[in-house]
Amino acid sequence: MSERGNLHIKGRVLAGPDDVRDELWVVDGKITYRRPPRAAGDLTRVDGWVLPGLVDAHCHVGLGAHGPVDEATTEKQALTDRDAGALLLRDAGSAADTRWVDDREDLPRIIRAGRHIARTKRYIRNYAHEIEPGDLAAYVRQEARRGDGWVKLVGDWIDRGEGDLAPCWPRWALEEAIATAHEEGARVTAHCFAESSLRDLVEAGIDCVEHATGLTEDTIPLFAERGVAIVPTLINIATFPDLAAGGEARYPRWSAHMRDLHARRYETVRAAYDAGIPVFAGTDAGGSLAHGQVADEVAELVAAGIPARDALSAATWGARAWLGRSGLEEGEPADLVVYGEDPREDVRVLGAPRVVVLRGRVVG
Ligand SMILES: [Zn+2]
Repeated sequence: MSERGNLHIKGRVLAGPDDVRDELWVVDGKITYRRPPRAAGDLTRVDGWVLPGLVDAHCHVGLGAHGPVDEATTEKQALTDRDAGALLLRDAGSAADTRWVDDREDLPRIIRAGRHIARTKRYIRNYAHEIEPGDLAAYVRQEARRGDGWVKLVGDWIDRGEGDLAPCWPRWALEEAIATAHEEGARVTAHCFAESSLRDLVEAGIDCVEHATGLTEDTIPLFAERGVAIVPTLINIATFPDLAAGGEARYPRWSAHMRDLHARRYETVRAAYDAGIPVFAGTDAGGSLAHGQVADEVAELVAAGIPARDALSAATWGARAWLGRSGLEEGEPADLVVYGEDPREDVRVLGAPRVVVLRGRVVG
């Protein structure tokens, strides 16, 4: 079924949280709710619950545990995401040039954030441009021009002198850098685990924070008021206890801090959600985490206390709108996933797509 054929999908088409239809057709790669004329050729019938192609809003393509990877590995990562139903990936920083993926009809669509920008020796080796604050705005401009509307900063990381997580950038550098990104038409996001970098980033005008485990009752209202989104990456946060154990001997303060952030992760996400902060699903695949786990991340959002419908939206309707991409609207490219059961009843259904359709082709 890998040829582009016209499809008739019957069942429940979940076009929006409050927009459920009985059927849709895929004709010449596009979605339509109007029955095609006979001339449209044979229709392949598919039954089930239909969602827009899932969004993994934090997914590194072309990156491995030690830095950029070759094209064959990159392709495998992208195919794994695709087969899990993740058809739109927001790449939260990659040292590899993955622009060639855009020419591949069979691979998911990627929204890039260029390469991570970190403070010197304050991030995973071989991942980031490692620079000092005086150069931040210039690098932000460069990566904004390389990316697809996003720039990725490393907002905090362990300061080995202090033995704990600490902010990477002074406030003035952030203000200059974020204003530069906005001038270039790009939004800015930042990796942040701890509490201490958040206020400066938000007051400097940041658009999103990754992980955001350090949100507290002090900063949650600030995020809510300014509409700053978070991508909690809970399946990554689940690795904190192991990281903490590994660093215990040399950095006991850092270890304790990581354990605390982990212990309160669900409460943090739930409090953010309750305050009205936009929350999106992202797995953080690509460094040490495997690709293809977007269903697990949605299940984690539910475990944190987000109602199933909003957790689904965090990986579908809401995420697509936030990223400026279409869903299941008339005339749009057919990127969709069909399930054998209702994902609104149990989001774990997302783990077993029945049919994956990308650009109108059945690919999985
Ligand atoms: Zn990441």
